[in-house]
This record gives sequence, C-alpha cells and structure tokens, in this order.
Amino acid sequence: MNKKILNTLKEKLEKQKASIEGELGKFAKRDEKLKGDWDTKYPKSNGGAGSQVLEDAADDVEEYATLLSIEYNLELRLQDINLALEKINKGGYGKCEKCGKKILEERLKIHPEARMCTKCE
Ligand SMILES: [Zn+2]
Repeated sequence: MNKKILNTLKEKLEKQKASIEGELGKFAKRDEKLKGDWDTKYPKSNGGAGSQVLEDAADDVEEYATLLSIEYNLELRLQDINLALEKINKGGYGKCEKCGKKILEERLKIHPEARMCTKCE
C-alpha cells in the first residue's frame, strides 16, 4: 500500500480513537488495570423524597443500561481501531483476517478499522 495513503488512514484512525476516548470519558472511567477497558459510572440520584427516589432509581437503572450498551459499542470500535493502528506499525495492515486477501483501499478509506474484506464480512 502507498505510504501516503497509509499515513492518511493512520491519521484518520488516530482521530477516531481520540474522539471515541473522549466520548467514553464523558460517562465511563478507564480501567487502569485492564488496558483498553472502560467502566461505565453508575449515575447518582440527585436525592428527592418518597416515590420520587424510587422513580429516580428506576431512571438510573435505565440510563445505566443504555450507557452500558453505548460503552460496549464504543469499546468494540476502539479495539478495532487499536488493532488497525498496531497492524500499521507492525505490518499486516489492509489484509483480510479471514481470507488473507487485500482489503480494497476504497473500503479502508471509509472504514480504516476494517478487519475483513467486503466479501467476508
Ligand atoms: Zn476476505
């Protein structure tokens, strides 16, 4: 692959990585022990009395579940991005993980974190 294109894709990946980490940072805490793992913070109720407390608690559970699924998706993307960056550094970037064929540049320009070619995915 052309070095110039590779550099452009690398920049793209790094930008995406920063923006995903920024998103995650809004509601999750990076797990220092497990590199690349994030934990969603449990939202804290802002107090209240009687049934309001229970209602708030229910809202929190719902909000927490939503955030967990967002976190999960962002984390998966982040993992793919990190993997792609690693491959760019160590070699093997742009190869389909399933069939071993080159992934089309046009595809990588749109999804630089792609791990498989269009046929295999
Ligand atoms: Zn393939």
